[in-house]
Amino acid sequence: MQCYFCGLKATQQLFFIAARQITRETQVCADHAVTLLQREQPRPQGEPFTEGRLVQFEIEQLHRMLISTKPSDSDCIILQESGGTRRMQVTLGRCEASTLERLLQPQRTPRPLTPEAFARTLHSLGGKLVHIAITQLLQGTYFAVLRINQNGRRFEIDLRPSDALAVAVSCQAPIFVLVSLIPADVGGDPTAASR
Ligand SMILES: [Zn+2]
Repeated sequence: MQCYFCGLKATQQLFFIAARQITRETQVCADHAVTLLQREQPRPQGEPFTEGRLVQFEIEQLHRMLISTKPSDSDCIILQESGGTRRMQVTLGRCEASTLERLLQPQRTPRPLTPEAFARTLHSLGGKLVHIAITQLLQGTYFAVLRINQNGRRFEIDLRPSDALAVAVSCQAPIFVLVSLIPADVGGDPTAASR
């Protein structure tokens, strides 16, 4: 496969996402993946939405490696501050990235994927996913929680960010990030952290 821009060997597949659906996908070389990430400047719409010390984000891009050229290469998701300009990058395992890609495709899979089964189970038990939040960064690894409301009772469940994002997509729940974990940079070089 060739890079869409320069014809060199493509090493990454980029998915652009709007309203939780993949709208465009393209194969690019490593250099163009970086260029594109910097060129696709966010367009602030309205004001950033905050809830206490949490800031709302939306899924903007999914990067999947076609060929790894260095050990640090991995699939990742780019989150974009809702109504703001900040971005952050969350590294994903191959399986988690594959699941997210399928969840973000406009066409549904005939049988439920695990996060969709979780969403249905939660709904059947009278629970509602209030939001997911990335709340901790420990030794380069993000930690996330699900905040669930069931008849006025509140539950908080610890989860990996990749799983939490998949559940947020399946439940159509908002995504929040603790303000102290948001990289200050705009566009350029979002902090990478592992799943
Ligand atoms: Zn290229």
